Amino acid sequence: MSEPRSHRRADGAPALAPPGGSAVDAAAEWRARHELTRLGHLLYERGYNVATDGNVSWRLDDDTLLVTPTGAHLGFLRPDELVVVDREGELLRGDRAPTSEWPLHREIHRARPDSRCVVHAHAPHAIAASLAGIDLHDSFITVAPIPTTEYARVSSEQTPAVLRPFLRDYSWAILPRHGVVAWAPSAWDAFLRVESLEHCAKVVLAARACGPIAPLTPEQRRELLTVWGLERLA
Ligand SMILES: [Zn+2]
Repeated sequence: MSEPRSHRRADGAPALAPPGGSAVDAAAEWRARHELTRLGHLLYERGYNVATDGNVSWRLDDDTLLVTPTGAHLGFLRPDELVVVDREGELLRGDRAPTSEWPLHREIHRARPDSRCVVHAHAPHAIAASLAGIDLHDSFITVAPIPTTEYARVSSEQTPAVLRPFLRDYSWAILPRHGVVAWAPSAWDAFLRVESLEHCAKVVLAARACGPIAPLTPEQRRELLTVWGLERLA
C-alpha cells in the first residue's frame, strides 16, 4: 500500500492524513504499524515463530483492525505490509488478504474490548507440551494458570470456537498441536505474555524430563490464585 500523506500538526510534530481519516487517527495507526512490526521481529528473534508462522493484530477502533497479511514473515515484517480490515474481514487498506487466522483475532477483539493487541505464535515448547499431553494450567511457577483449548484445525472456524470458553477469565491460551495466543492492552504486554508462557512450558518440560512434579497443597494453590485475582478458579 502507499503510505498516508504527511503534514505538520500545530505543535510541529509530524502527522499523517489518510483519505477520509483524521490526522490523529492516522498518526495512531502509523504508531500501531510500527509497534506491531517491532513485535513481529521480537517474536522471530526469540524463536517463537519461524518461516511464515504466526500473526499479530491491533484494534484501531470498534470497526477496524490492523493485522498481518497472509504469508507474511514476521521476522522481516514492514509497517506498510500490515493491512486494515473491517469487522467482517473486508480489506479496507492494503494490497493483500489478511492472515488466514483472521477469525481468531476477530473473536478475541470482540470478546475483550479492554485488550488492543492479539498475538498468535507457534512457540515450540508450548506446542511440545501439548503434543505430550502436558497441561500447564496447574504448573504454578511464577505465572497465572495457562489453559489449553480443545483441538482445532489450523486456520479454521474451529479455532475461535475452542478459544471462546477462555476469553473472559484468561489473557492467553495454548492451541494444541498449533501454538499460543495472548491478548493485552499493549503490544509490549502481549509480547511479555507469550514470552512468559513459553518460558513456563520450557521449565515444565525440563522438570518432567527429570521426574514427576510435586503439586502445591490446596492452600498454597488457593493463595496464589488469590494473588493473581483468579479466586474463582480455586
Ligand atoms: Zn497458527
